[in-house]
Amino acid sequence: MHILVTNDDGVTAPGLLALAQAMRQFGKVSVVAPDHDWSGGGHVKTLNRPLRVRRVKLADGSDALTSDGAPSDCVALALMGLLKDKVDLVVSGVNTAANLGHDVTYSGTVTAVMEGIIWGVPGVAVSLDARSSHSLELDYTLAVKVAADVVRTVLQNELPSGTFLNVNVPNVPIEAFKGIRLTRQGLRVYRDRLDKRTDPRGNDYYWIGGDRPTGVPHEGTDVGAIFAGFASVTPLELDLTAFHAMPILGEWRWNGEEKDTGLVVPASLPVVETAVANAAIH
Ligand code: MN
Repeated sequence: MHILVTNDDGVTAPGLLALAQAMRQFGKVSVVAPDHDWSGGGHVKTLNRPLRVRRVKLADGSDALTSDGAPSDCVALALMGLLKDKVDLVVSGVNTAANLGHDVTYSGTVTAVMEGIIWGVPGVAVSLDARSSHSLELDYTLAVKVAADVVRTVLQNELPSGTFLNVNVPNVPIEAFKGIRLTRQGLRVYRDRLDKRTDPRGNDYYWIGGDRPTGVPHEGTDVGAIFAGFASVTPLELDLTAFHAMPILGEWRWNGEEKDTGLVVPASLPVVETAVANAAIH
């Protein structure tokens, strides 16, 4: 078993070290992580400049590789030949903020795992719902315990093709932890505000600020689970097709009045499995 560990908070982040250490119980661990904080950087493929890679030591003295690319670039580098040994699983995190609902396409933590899916390697993204951005003050004990429990479950079974897991862990003491819930994506409520400021040379610039996002804690969703003190495990895939819209759009005239022969709607639409959304893993 060869696990690639990465993150989006950068190679010096304590959450990366804690996760790498926890993954060693499952086999060989290779760390390839960005050289600075890419939080919110999304799914990136760097094509218009070279990518540099350096050997570094993590705080426990173990070897790691760091790149000036995005988290998804780090995964692509690793899977395209930077690492000699075949990678069996990509594990990303532990991020210092939750990645819930619509956060997933912004998230460098989650999109690193999406890049693994592009190359046919399954993965798990792990985020801690911390209110503080001071990562040195955070306790990663519960997050890495949940990460290890999820990875053990994944290795004992087999993720369906193209599926990856988005795991979020509440920032509570282990004694207060309620367990893991299988969830669907919930609804994030963003409270971003555009700040317009002036630089020392008199030029305007803009900064996306505002308050931390909240969410709608619907039962069965990642937001609902985290708000209730559970860890959430949400299975995701890269296919973003809006299947519920197919029958509606199938009624529209796409080729004009005369030519229209009707849109061919895919015959067998996948059933959205809302039933699994509430099932507790344990
Ligand atoms: Mn981050």
